[in-house]
Amino acid sequence: MRQPCVLLKYGELALKGRNKERFERQLVHNLRHALSDAGFPVRIRRRRGALILSAAEYSDEPRQQARTQREFLVRARELIGISVVQPALRVDRTPEAASSAAVDLARTLRPDGTAATFAVRARRRNKDFPLTSTQLADRVGARIQAELGWPVDLSEPQVEVAVEVDRAEILVCVERHRGQGGLPVGSSGRALVLMSGGFDSPVAAYRAMRRGLACDFVHFTGAPLTGPASAYKAYALTRRLARFQGEAGVLWLVPLGQAQRALATAGAGGLQVVAQRRLMVRTADRLARRGGAQALVTGDSLGQVSSQTLANLATVEEAATLPVLRPLLAWDKEEILTEAARLGTAEISRLPDEDCCALLVPPSVATRSTPGQLARLESRLDVNELVGELVEKARPLRPDPSGG
Ligand code: ATP
Ligand code: MG
Repeated sequence: MRQPCVLLKYGELALKGRNKERFERQLVHNLRHALSDAGFPVRIRRRRGALILSAAEYSDEPRQQARTQREFLVRARELIGISVVQPALRVDRTPEAASSAAVDLARTLRPDGTAATFAVRARRRNKDFPLTSTQLADRVGARIQAELGWPVDLSEPQVEVAVEVDRAEILVCVERHRGQGGLPVGSSGRALVLMSGGFDSPVAAYRAMRRGLACDFVHFTGAPLTGPASAYKAYALTRRLARFQGEAGVLWLVPLGQAQRALATAGAGGLQVVAQRRLMVRTADRLARRGGAQALVTGDSLGQVSSQTLANLATVEEAATLPVLRPLLAWDKEEILTEAARLGTAEISRLPDEDCCALLVPPSVATRSTPGQLARLESRLDVNELVGELVEKARPLRPDPSGG
């Protein structure tokens, strides 16, 4: 047996017993989702503290095998909940099989035939093996020295060969990549993200996912006062984020234009932006409850713009019945932009759109507001009915992560 596969570690999550079991099950579920459109059946084997990902049936064609392995690697590195991703060869449970796999893998790292210093790190996840870890490492190391002429350097090797003995196989790897880390998405529950077309909210969504929240999304457009550009952006953003959570999550699109005009007509003045936010939050709150979400998530960062003073955040929050989570509350814009670039959302957020918040903006936005002021404004229109209409108008989209 010699099978290319990918070895996934999720770290010794400082979790015990049933909780750990639940996390593992969630991660396997997410992985299946993330690979459901890979185009071929996938096999996931559970080992202690690790998962082995391979194709259910292997092509005999080495190049096809390599492509499959690379595809696994790319997807596993994006899925939240995995801390280390290692392309590996899965071989028979003998020192000889491990040694020749190690030699072949090491050779691929130096195709020009030059030497590299190396070290073999062996471990036995399963102890009923005739050799100790040290003996096994010595055996494999001796073969690499003999066949490739590479010198050993145990303290700062250029190449680390990992040999892991498991209950049914040995896994040999020479590469190690960092995964996203975090808790498997879904293990902390479900949230609804208020997604603008900006830089902040996709990053906020990602950070919420990293803490195990499965995310759905709601985007408010200025329709009928604006075109569809911002909805396309929100759609593209949720599709990008789907790779991190495994399943796509629903995107609700809600046309806010008429309600915005109603607020302006009711004399919102300097409170227009905060009043709009409260409408968004009320609508999101109802959609969230309907979809089984237990919290709202926003991209607010304290003091970033005038609608995000502490007073205004509090006034907006008062309109929600669910907790409003703000993962970026204490982040600087620069930190947010760096993370957005890493996630690949920045290039989408940068596209032009017609943001509904830019409509009907008063000459000066009030930095201070109170729930009382807003309640008085809202009593001049029937807010409940307005929110009911917005929920009625909400349209769900389910992004297809692989689609065009
Ligand atoms: P972002 O904060 O995502 O960069 P932005 O800067 O345009 O977008 P802000 O004015 O900072 O938006 O709004 C703060 C938060 O309010 C956003 O992070 C988002 O959670 C929510 N929000 C704003 N506009 C919308 C919208 N049109 N649809 C859904 N949520 C929105
Ligand atoms: Mg912002």
